[in-house]
Amino acid sequence: MYRIGFGNDIHRLEAGKKLILGGVEIDSDLGAVGHSDADALFHAVTDAILGALALGDIGSHFSDKDARWKNADSRVFLAEAMRLTKEKGFAIVNVDSIVSLEKPKLRPFIDAIRENLARSLEIGIDTVSVKAKTGEGVDAVGTSRAIQAEAVILLEKNRKIKYFSSTKIN
Ligand code: MG
Repeated sequence: MYRIGFGNDIHRLEAGKKLILGGVEIDSDLGAVGHSDADALFHAVTDAILGALALGDIGSHFSDKDARWKNADSRVFLAEAMRLTKEKGFAIVNVDSIVSLEKPKLRPFIDAIRENLARSLEIGIDTVSVKAKTGEGVDAVGTSRAIQAEAVILLEKNRKIKYFSSTKIN
């Protein structure tokens, strides 16, 4: 049995903040504002997994009012979503995602982000897609006021084949 999930997240950008995306620190003048480390991609993927399992959303599991998640590494959220995935007898098949950010260009960081996602989701890097877009100068993304991420994910129950990523990043 398959389940599909969709996740979306947006964070405001401000000077003087770190920009963490898919667990990778991006060299940028502007960083993301949030209660945790504000990793929009990890949040979108976590939300997609919870959606596939019909277990609510990231806010219902990790409230931004909870001091435990202040400046939290968003890998923790992904790890909890994976624990729930396994508890329900599922495994991840693949993930596709889009990060929308005006600048900087994300291409140099994409493979490191894919590797982090592959490791967290316990799948091969060849089943992890991360695409980058700009906002073409319009809207909150296009005017560098926000970073947005969207993800779709496929889960399979009683999946037999286990992959483990070993791709090296140069
Ligand atoms: Mg978020």
